[in-house]
Amino acid sequence: MMADLEPHLNLKTFWYDTFNATFNVFDRDEWHLEPTNTEMTGSGWYTYQDKAKVKFVCSDCGRSWTSMKGVVIFWFQLNKETHKGNLRFKLFGQKCNSNCTDTFQKPRWYREEIEKVLSNILQKIGEKFYSFKPKESDTKTRQGRPRKPHNTSMCEACQMGVCNKSRG
Ligand SMILES: [Zn+2]
Ligand SMILES: [Zn+2]
Repeated sequence: MMADLEPHLNLKTFWYDTFNATFNVFDRDEWHLEPTNTEMTGSGWYTYQDKAKVKFVCSDCGRSWTSMKGVVIFWFQLNKETHKGNLRFKLFGQKCNSNCTDTFQKPRWYREEIEKVLSNILQKIGEKFYSFKPKESDTKTRQGRPRKPHNTSMCEACQMGVCNKSRG
């Protein structure tokens, strides 16, 4: 496999670079992207959930696996007076296996999947606040046939009851 097809290791940078390059279309408002670990509740927050093929590498034993159920949840709100938009996101993890560490491993997202979900959420925000014409979300997922069925007890999104709410 070619190096540039590998999941992006410098995850954070690529999320922000892609965000900055695409979220400059709402010229009078300034949007900020921030990860969150908790659900954003309260008035003014909207939510959008998406999914992608992701890769995991266990920080304990080094085992790696891919999953077609890499879940991301976005929360977004716009303050029309200050012209500040907030976009928060949470990437859901998976555990290695029952013999290994009990912590959720952080997913590694492929570049094209980051671009896909950010373009989908940009469209959703556009529809909500900037009268974009409604458009179907891009549901293309990087190819892959999981060798094992999805293990719900190892999946953070399943544990929180949101895994199957994703499209597709
Ligand atoms: Zn492990
Ligand atoms: Zn799941």
